[in-house]
Amino acid sequence: MADNAAGAPIALEHICDRIEKARQRFGAPPEKVELVAVSKTFGPEVIEPFLASGQRVFGENRVQEAKEKWPALRERYPDIKLHLIGPLQTNKAREAVALFDVIQSVDRDKLAGILAEEMARADKRIPCFVQVNIGDEEQKAGIAVAETVDFVTRCRQVHGLDIIGLMCIPPDGKPAGPYFAQLAVLGRAAGAENLSMGMSGDFETAIAMGATHVRVGSALFGYRPKVQ
Ligand SMILES: *Cc1c(COP(=O)(O)O)cnc(C)c1O
Repeated sequence: MADNAAGAPIALEHICDRIEKARQRFGAPPEKVELVAVSKTFGPEVIEPFLASGQRVFGENRVQEAKEKWPALRERYPDIKLHLIGPLQTNKAREAVALFDVIQSVDRDKLAGILAEEMARADKRIPCFVQVNIGDEEQKAGIAVAETVDFVTRCRQVHGLDIIGLMCIPPDGKPAGPYFAQLAVLGRAAGAENLSMGMSGDFETAIAMGATHVRVGSALFGYRPKVQ
């Protein structure tokens, strides 16, 4: 799809248009749905036309890859907001704090504690989402559904993290709507006002359920060989 300079503005406009239509159709808040353009696996030459078209919020799922790609792009576009949307190992927390503007994958106490330490050390306070294992799947990252509200409280009160919302990736191969609805319920219970949910295949459903952030990759950047 949009893997060249001509295609990028069209793909971006098309997705922004679908986001806005979904937001209006379903009426309810939020006032704004943030498009997080998921650029993992794509090089700067693919990302650049999206920056030139005005997109500033991007998502990456690996610290190492973000470190290779984004510092140079940031020099030219200082107002970029980079979200970490993939699992974070505690030994990468320092680099993550240096590179990212939002961390969406806080999902365990040890990580929350180390992130808090690294933010204090860097004198930086980075807004975070708690990632919820919304299908309670064995292999999946995220805090268990039943522990979510307590974990959010603990992140805030014990670690002093700025938890601004919840994030989830619903199970493959099942309708996502009920999982998105459940994340919204948990968000209200935890007092976490933002919901990061919905990807290329289901972001409109997520918006209907109250998503404030949608994470869209392939619908913007085109086919991505399945490496992760
Ligand atoms: C890759 C990825 C996305 C984007 O997926 P698409 O289906 O390409 O839109 C969204 N969220 C997370 C956590 C991802 O890893």
